[in-house]
Parts: sequence; C-alpha cells; structure tokens
Amino acid sequence: MTDPRHEILFTPLAIGPHVAKNRFYQVPHCNGGGYRDPSAVAAMRGVKAEGGWGVIFTEQTEMHHSSEITPFIEQRLWEDQDIPALRKMSEAMKTHGALAGIQLAYSGINGPNFYSREVPMAVSPGPIRTFTNDPVQARALDKADIRNLRRWFVNAARRSKLAGFDLICLYGAHGFGIFQHFLSRATNQRGDEYGGSLENRSRFVREVIGDMRDAVGDCMALTLRVSLDETIGDLGFSNAELRDFIGMNGDLPDLWDLAHGTWEECSGPSRFKEEAAQEELVRGIRELTSRPVVGVGRFTSPDVMARLVRQGTLDFIGCARPSIADPFLPVKVQEGRSEDIRECIGCNICVSGDMTGGISRCTQNPSFMEEWRKGWHPERMNPKGESQSVLVVGAGPAGLEAARALSLRGYDVALAEAGDALGGRVARERLLPGLSAWGRVADYRIYQLSQRANVETYLQSRLTVEDILSFGFQNVCIATGSQWRADGVARMHVAPVPNTGMPVLTPDDLMAGQRPTGRVVLFDDDHYYMGGVLAELCARAGCEVTLVTPAAFVSDWSRNTLEQGAIHRRLAAAGVKIVLNTGITALEAGAVVTACAYTGAEARLEADTVVMVASRTSDDALYQGLMARQADWADAGIRSVKVIGDAAAPGPIAWATYAGHRYAREVDMAEIGDALPFRREVVALQG
Ligand code: ADP
Ligand code: SF4
Repeated sequence: MTDPRHEILFTPLAIGPHVAKNRFYQVPHCNGGGYRDPSAVAAMRGVKAEGGWGVIFTEQTEMHHSSEITPFIEQRLWEDQDIPALRKMSEAMKTHGALAGIQLAYSGINGPNFYSREVPMAVSPGPIRTFTNDPVQARALDKADIRNLRRWFVNAARRSKLAGFDLICLYGAHGFGIFQHFLSRATNQRGDEYGGSLENRSRFVREVIGDMRDAVGDCMALTLRVSLDETIGDLGFSNAELRDFIGMNGDLPDLWDLAHGTWEECSGPSRFKEEAAQEELVRGIRELTSRPVVGVGRFTSPDVMARLVRQGTLDFIGCARPSIADPFLPVKVQEGRSEDIRECIGCNICVSGDMTGGISRCTQNPSFMEEWRKGWHPERMNPKGESQSVLVVGAGPAGLEAARALSLRGYDVALAEAGDALGGRVARERLLPGLSAWGRVADYRIYQLSQRANVETYLQSRLTVEDILSFGFQNVCIATGSQWRADGVARMHVAPVPNTGMPVLTPDDLMAGQRPTGRVVLFDDDHYYMGGVLAELCARAGCEVTLVTPAAFVSDWSRNTLEQGAIHRRLAAAGVKIVLNTGITALEAGAVVTACAYTGAEARLEADTVVMVASRTSDDALYQGLMARQADWADAGIRSVKVIGDAAAPGPIAWATYAGHRYAREVDMAEIGDALPFRREVVALQG
C-alpha cells in the first residue's frame, strides 16, 4: 500500500495533449548503446515502463546529420530509415501506460562531425567544444541555414510522430544543444536579430516551437530542456537570466525541463553533490509559468520527492541515474516498499559507458543494458537449476550480489566472510572522504539478504580449503577480493620500485586506520578515484601532501565519470601539491626520486612516507588451493568452483557486482562452448 505521504507522486498530470499517469519522469539519459544496439536500448526502456515510470525518454537524438557527436553513441533520426529502431523503443516505453518521449538535439558548437564530415554550424563561429579539444571549428549559421534548421526540426518532429512518440524534448542544457547556444551570450555573439538582447537570443527557440506546434502540436507535447545556470557568471546564461526568459516565454513549451548548465554540474557524483543539489536554482521558477516543471537531483528518497511536489517546487520528479540503478523505483514507492529501492550511489560509472564508447554499466544494477543482450531482469531471476546449495566465500560487492541473486533463484546459500562486517571493500571505502553514499552497495544487499529465509551469513569465518572440502556445498563461489600492492608495480613499473628505506603505506593500510605524518608523497599509477581521495584524506589529517602521477591529469580516468575537474579543485583547495607527467624511479630514506614521464629528467622530493596507489593483487589463494584439490571434489560433493570479482581480476565496484550477478545467473547453466555469451545486433547490408 502506498504511504499516504507519497500519494501525491501518483496524481496524474497533463503535459500538452497528453496525461502522465504519475510524477515519475525518466529524463533523457545516455547508455552507451544508442543507435548501435537498438533492441538492447528498447528493452532497457521497456523495463522502466514495467517499473512504473510515468514518462520515459530516449537518450539525445541527433536530429540532422550536419551535427553529430561521434564517437559518442546516442540516437539518430537523420532519415526515414531511422524510424523503425526508434519505434521499437517508443512501443516498449508505452507498454505499461507511460508516455514516450524523444529528445531532439542539434549539437552546433559541440558536434565535430567526425562521421558525416559536414562543416559544423554553430550560432557563432568558434572551436568545437568537446571533451577532447578537437582541432575543428564551426562556421556561423547564416539566415538561410537558420531557415533550413527550422525545417529540419519540423522534419524531425514529423519523424518522431511516425516513430510513435508522445513528447518531444528540445535539448538546450548541459552546455549541449543549439537552444542553449542561442540563449547564452557565451556562445551567441551574433549581431543580427538572433543575438544581443534576451528577446533576440530567444527568437530561435520561439520560432522552432511555433513551427513544430503547427506540424505536430495537436498530438505531441513539446518540452524544452533548458540550462539552470551555466556557472560562468554574467558571461553566460545565468539563473537570473533563465528566470527572465521563462518570465517572458512562460507558456512557450508544454513543460519546462530544468537541468544544470554543464553536464558535470548536473550529473554531479555523490562525492561532490548531495541529493536535490539543484533545489535552490529551481525554487520559484514554477511560479513564472502555468506549465508543469520537471527538475533533477539524483533523487532516491520518496520523502524528498514528495516534499518537492507538495511544496510546489516541481511537478515532476526527473530521474536519470536513479532510474538506472532501480528501474522499479516508482512501483516500489507505490507498493509502499521504499526499503527495497536500490539507491543510486552517485558514482557515475554509467556515464563512463558513454564516455568510453562501451556499453554502460551500473554499479547498483548489474542488469542495466543486459535486459535484451542477456535477458536479465532487474527484479526477476531465472529459475533454479538442478543443484541446491551454494557457498559464497567473501562478502564484498561480488559475494553479496551473488548471494542475493542466488537466493532469489531459490538456492540455499551460505555466505562466509572472514571479517567482522559485510561489505568487503565497500565497508572500508565508504569511510573515505566523500564516499559514504557508496555504502549503499552493501546496505541494499545486506537488507535484502536479511529478508531471505534461504541465506545464512557467517561473519569472522575465514575459510580454508579443508573447511570447504568438509562442508558439502555443491557449488563454491570464491569472492575473496584483492589487496593493494606496496611495491609500486602497476603501469609504469612492471618490477618493484627499488626501496632503500622509505616507509610505504598502501590504500589498505590507510583504510585500516593507519595515518602518515609530515611530508607525504602519494604516487598514483592507478588513475581512478583512490589516489585523489587518499591525497584529500592525508591533507585533512594534517600532512603536507604531494601527489605525483605519470598522467597528465589528477585521477585521470575520472574524466569518464565527470569528476576530474572537481577532484583537482578539491585537492588544490586542500593544499595538495600536484605534480603531473612524473613518475617515481626509486625510494630512499627521506626522499623519493622522480622522473619526468617524457624526458626521464630526475629530481628528488623529500618525504617522510610514500602512499602507494598502484595496482591490486587478487586474493585467490583459496581458489588456487581448491583447484589443486580437484580430485577430491566429487567425494566432497562439489560440482563447481568459480572465482569472481576482484579475486579473479581487480576492477571497479561495478565490475564486482556484475560478476556476482552473472555467477548467480549461470549456476547450473549448460556450457555454451565457443558461443557468444550475449546477443548482439548486426546491421543489414545495403545493396
Ligand atoms: P569484491 O570487490 O570482489 O567483492 P572485496 O575485496 O570487496 O571483493 O571483498 C572480498 C571479501 O572477502 C572481504 O571482505 C574479505 O574479508 C573476504 N575474504 C577474503 N578471504 C576470505 C576467506 N578465506 N574466507 C572468507 N572470507 C574471505
Ligand atoms: Fe548511480 Fe553509479 Fe548506477 Fe550510475 S552507475 S546509476 S551513478 S549507481
């Protein structure tokens, strides 16, 4: 039964000619699959429909070939050929009464056109703005181009209608999308009637919405996603100017979709942004318009969602990441099962799928983007196979997820953990600066396990090979994790770094509570979050910290999770000295020998302790021990032994939850030999 405090979230509300069944609004989000994996993306959106979302959007859709953002894989609606794939998605979205929305994007100054090879066109000329400083400039749209662009939007709207969508979102936030580029003085330096005053800068969006209304307005709702603040002061489109714009054009779209002015700000990780972080920027805007308003803020708490609707700040609760982590969030709120919500942890691993051209993963929801490829459902498991019992050794993210998913399949599960607490690396990492929300990986699973009668959990149980051979479990899953190396072996060094007397601490040592004092050199050859987090920890503990890395950026890989800039800023604010493009070649008593990554030029850095953030070694001794005793398995009743997660190969937490889930899915599954373990879509050859 729905908690009466949350009932407001289930009141229907009109958006233009349509009515949304509730206030749960899945705003557009990338997924790494896009046009390359149409059936996978359609199935993913279909699962959200089943999960109760009232409105479900596509990712951004390139609406014309003259503006595309290769290598990022989104949707394309360039010609009629693109309609069937999008129709498949809209049909999946509408299966449970949700409204289906398509986001149309013309990227302008953000589109390098590496694929179409067209000369990019933007509001004003200038270098293309992407993550990679591409050596390409855009020319300015002339008046004929603007007329063409208006027609292309109408063409795209007509195709969207044919593709079965109910809503069109025009993209003008996050720094992306031609509408933001027209509105902002930072990207609009035109001297004609499209530039200068706010009235002039908003002319284009007024024209496009007018054209589209004439074309499809009778049956489609038109929404405008617009920047809340570009965060570059008066130079850009500020929050104050947004309010002026909405004040002047309150009834222009059928709904205002408010999102921050840069993607990094809007999709801020939990390390830097709280839930509902955009509330201040949104408050009061609804009073400027008679149209409904949607906003985002990594909402996972139905109390916060209901409050925002009740107090009149938002009409719809916009969610991207929370809908990825738990596609069934609305159904769970409706059924009064808020404690079952698998809350997004704000790690932005999902974003990295888009940034790397892979397919997105989610740390919390291993089935994300596997709905079609592997037939995985976020709430339902495949039926139990022929065996009955599984021993899972190690209660980190891999072991916890394996135990949870196995118990849903109906196996009798024993989960043995050497330590005093469940959670493995997550139990330790959640205590580091900014990472407390990551504890949700453990919290969700521990609670779910506590509700299952067929799972027994054993703490302080460091198992040996002999223990396992004596227990009689049919399947053994080794999820014993990994340890950070102290010897510096990672990418730069394939052999240990010579050390003649420098004390070295590893991330495991720091997480166990040890603290360096005095001058600390933190060497980061891992390049994800750990180096930056520990530099912050040591600085907070009063150390004089120098972060040395062979990379050109602090926490280099975190550019893929939209955190890198914020990490650098935070370290600078904490007084951490940052030394880039530099390795270490030797450790001595009282000093570190550094070397330029390009020239090899050496220097000495005085230090009292080195914190070594290099690579990790798998804790696979138990697995290897069991493999060496394979001859004894039959007598012990053992049918299978597998090693998963960090114990197989260390990786991010998302890799571990995926491994745990996959293990649970595949117990008792027939060997597939050389066949591909997932479905893929192969394009049909043209003539
Ligand atoms: P992953 O990320 O793959 O889940 P973690 O390092 O987070 O790995 O978790 C591994 C867990 O396994 C740790 O909590 C560790 O205490 C536990 N563990 C390691 N060896 C044993 C063992 N022999 N018996 C039981 N638990 C173990
Ligand atoms: Fe949230 Fe991380 Fe999942 Fe993205 S990958 S939806 S940020 S838990």
